[in-house]
Amino acid sequence: MIPKSHPRYESLMTRELIVEGVKKGITSIQGLIAQGRGEAFDYLIGEKSTESALHAEKAAAANLLLARKPVISVNGNVAALVPEEVIRLSVLACSPLEVNLFHRTEERVNKIIVHLQSYGARNIFTKSDALIPGLEHERAKVDSNGIFIADVLLVPLEDGDRCKALLEMGKTVIAIDLNPLSRTAQYATVTIVDNIIRAVPNISKFVEKLKYLDREELQDIVRGYNNKRTLSRAVDEIKKNLESFSDMP
Ligand code: ATP
Ligand code: MG
Repeated sequence: MIPKSHPRYESLMTRELIVEGVKKGITSIQGLIAQGRGEAFDYLIGEKSTESALHAEKAAAANLLLARKPVISVNGNVAALVPEEVIRLSVLACSPLEVNLFHRTEERVNKIIVHLQSYGARNIFTKSDALIPGLEHERAKVDSNGIFIADVLLVPLEDGDRCKALLEMGKTVIAIDLNPLSRTAQYATVTIVDNIIRAVPNISKFVEKLKYLDREELQDIVRGYNNKRTLSRAVDEIKKNLESFSDMP
């Protein structure tokens, strides 16, 4: 048991959830490495939602509200860390879920679907009858009514190659990735440099706030958003944070 008083309680509990996910067979072993890499970047941003992250989360919410066919992609890390939060966002933003795995096995896809359903998920695309062009077979499988035809996709923790292939299909891709330098972060339409445990609830809050705006006002938010600029602000925030460390006695 990790005592609540531990200064890094949240981070350690998150780690436990990922380990549990691996034991249950919903998270891949590689998911542990991804989490470790994420934790390192979370340390650098100060384990909080930065100004630039909130800015991107607002743009993400506006994009989801404007979408004709939004889909939220779920992998083994997302299912282990934020099952309830991702379902809540799915309902609020009328965006069905689809399980989409880099290290895909039908067994793991089914386990994640059952896991999400046990948390109350109702709206999940479950077929794998279409292929994303330009990727090898297993990594390309998607639902022909889901990701394949979605116009706006939220992909927490996506691989760079797949992110690029989805963009080449003409989709708006919103990525959540703690590493502002990753290929995914560099390619995506909107990159949220924040931990999924904070990012998903933050997007939900923005959806609740922005849903009263009319389409023009939402379009203004989307048009006013610049991903390159937001990413360089994220890097500046890391630099500032590092400088405050070097100022310590
Ligand atoms: P890319 O393929 O985009 O160049 P990569 O190969 O470095 O990235 P992957 O292993 O494909 O990285 O994906 C893991 C990514 O997810 C990492 O960039 C990591 O920072 C990020 N990540 C891991 N855990 C979290 C989390 N809890 N919240 C947000 N991002 C996370
Ligand atoms: Mg990768």
